[in-house]
Amino acid sequence: METILLLAHTEADGSLAKSAREALRAARTLNQALAGSSLVVGLVGENVQAVADSIAACPATKYFGVAGKDFAQSRYASDAAAAEAICKSAQATIVVAPATSRWARVLPGVAQRLGGRADTHVTGVADAGGKPAISRWYYRQRMEATLTRAQRPWFILVDPGSQTACECGAGTAKIETVAVNLPDNCKRTTVVGIREPKADAQTIRPDAELLFVTGAGWTKKQADGQTHVPEAEKLIRGFLQLSRASLGSSKSLVDQSGEGQAVLSFLSHLNQIGQTGSTPRHPKGLSTCCHGEEPHTVGWRFINERRAISLDPNCGWARGKADVLYVADAFAVMGKINELLAARK
Ligand SMILES: Cc1cc2nc3c(=O)[nH]c(=O)nc-3n(C[C@H](O)[C@H](O)[C@H](O)COP(=O)(O)OP(=O)(O)OC[C@H]3O[C@@H](n4cnc5c(N)ncnc54)[C@H](O)[C@@H]3O)c2cc1C
Repeated sequence: METILLLAHTEADGSLAKSAREALRAARTLNQALAGSSLVVGLVGENVQAVADSIAACPATKYFGVAGKDFAQSRYASDAAAAEAICKSAQATIVVAPATSRWARVLPGVAQRLGGRADTHVTGVADAGGKPAISRWYYRQRMEATLTRAQRPWFILVDPGSQTACECGAGTAKIETVAVNLPDNCKRTTVVGIREPKADAQTIRPDAELLFVTGAGWTKKQADGQTHVPEAEKLIRGFLQLSRASLGSSKSLVDQSGEGQAVLSFLSHLNQIGQTGSTPRHPKGLSTCCHGEEPHTVGWRFINERRAISLDPNCGWARGKADVLYVADAFAVMGKINELLAARK
């Protein structure tokens, strides 16, 4: 009989992140699929009652909590101690957790302490003939594998964005408090602040409805024989501000900075989509000034609805990579779109 533990931590504002609700969905899927299994919840944070209440209508039979000032912020030693204590109290055989940066660095270590195993980048869970199974991608998202494990406890870190968030409602949860006495040597690290780009400079937005991709065409000579990089920058920035889309790029464009050419100042290699870049998940994607070559479009695997704007009617997007290709000048199209979006606001 499996005891499935959903392990989550609170956010800085005391709430439960969407990724935790997605992991809860995966935990519920396993619980429903495995006859005789039970679902329990474990929470870590400064105060965990509000978060437990927010999901109290889920079919979990027990709630475990490690709470207090020492557990408010991400720190390996205290997070690992909290997770270990909850797993032991719950006698968990399967631990499902969101792959947040906080859990991703701690839970494989906790699996080691408990003699278990951990799998990361999990994108699906299922029943494989009465046994729990997970799926994940290999070789730059080209091959999907389904695997099972006999070792317990089994830690399953679910990739954010891969599941639909669980909508279970609020109520009143009775939390079993798990005491963790942290020795001083587990409190040496202190988070003194968070340095992050300003909201407008933060162009990678995993939760955005739209992935907006820029290609090298934005910096190439246009019909008048000139490049128009400042104008390109203005159009792209304008669109991102109006649409709140996430910004992706082709490799050619992000590489140009290394080659000393005029580039868009807000792009870095973190924006690169493709075989040697990232494979984000967004419901829709719009590519601009990009040729749509295979090493780039392989990064679009999880984008459901794809559109592209390119001057070249024979580009890769026209060869089955996009649902719709607009053979048009992206400068003109994006200028018009920005105008329409601004008018709507
Ligand atoms: C091992 C390997 C790994 C790679 N990994 C990646 C990867 O992870 N990601 C990636 O992106 N690439 C990757 N590449 C490179 C990839 O093959 C392409 O070279 C790259 O994606 C091309 O970028 P691009 O389409 O932006 O540029 P280009 O090929 O230069 O295309 C520019 C496009 O812009 C169009 N254009 C120009 N002006 C306009 C305008 N005004 N309006 C509309 N369209 C316009 C042109 O018609 C052209 O189609 C990899 C290559 C290799 C060999």
